[in-house]
Amino acid sequence: MKRKVKSLIKRIIPEKYRFQLASINDNCRFFFLFLPYIGTEFECPLCGSSFRKFLPNGLDLPVLKEKDIVGAGYRLNTLCPRCHSSERERLIYLYLRDNTNLFHENLKLLHIAPEKSLSRVLTTYRNIDYLSADLNSPRAMIKMDITDIKHADNLFDVIICNHVLEHIPNDRKAMSELYRVLKPGGWAILQVPISLSLNKTYEDPAITSPEEREKMFGQSDHVRIYAKDYKDRLEKAGFSIKTYSFTKEFDDSTTQKYGLLKEEDLYICSKPAPEQKIKKEVVREALYNVA
Ligand SMILES: [Zn+2]
Repeated sequence: MKRKVKSLIKRIIPEKYRFQLASINDNCRFFFLFLPYIGTEFECPLCGSSFRKFLPNGLDLPVLKEKDIVGAGYRLNTLCPRCHSSERERLIYLYLRDNTNLFHENLKLLHIAPEKSLSRVLTTYRNIDYLSADLNSPRAMIKMDITDIKHADNLFDVIICNHVLEHIPNDRKAMSELYRVLKPGGWAILQVPISLSLNKTYEDPAITSPEEREKMFGQSDHVRIYAKDYKDRLEKAGFSIKTYSFTKEFDDSTTQKYGLLKEEDLYICSKPAPEQKIKKEVVREALYNVA
């Protein structure tokens, strides 16, 4: 039937008009696809679009519920229907926009495993010297193994690296490499999925098959579940950490409108500038002398 309609169209519509008809068809398809989402209840700050709802996302696995992992498990109203931004992308963008100098000063930014929508926005700012990197993703500008970064020390003002460390067996090496290439006085956002019910990070190098990893860690390519001690691991790499409940600064209706997760804290990791380091040393020495 479809073939007959196509052949009829070919016979009765001249070739020069067929392209225009196909474009109308595409627009109709786009319209009907988006029809259920037309509304203003939700708003994506990254693409500026409003919707009646966001798309659902996430895996429905028992371990994700048991361990109460923030930003994991099946969730309604998660992805923007237009740009596919996730809750954490929108949260980070709002934080960068409202709380940092990233969009105003000339800064060198390293974006690891670049999220599509966030990356698109960041590259539109001419003041940002932007470099994206990934081990495999074709979306990234360069290939990079973050346990062995081929860049000089103290190079980047800002690093964004979200939901990457839980994939890396030697995450301590990755943390120390990120610290090494960050400029003194620079800062990084290093988000990972965090269990709210565990005090200690759960990992077991003996668990290697995708099936077992999915069962135990909640995703077939994850090698651990981070817990409240994630901060300690970052501090051991040298970072100064500020955990920031940025979402809690919004009222409930704004949190819902942007599709954010109330429990998601930001891990703002900074590399102390030399003078801050000296001050710390002086305080430590003074305390030692008093003792
Ligand atoms: Zn969007």
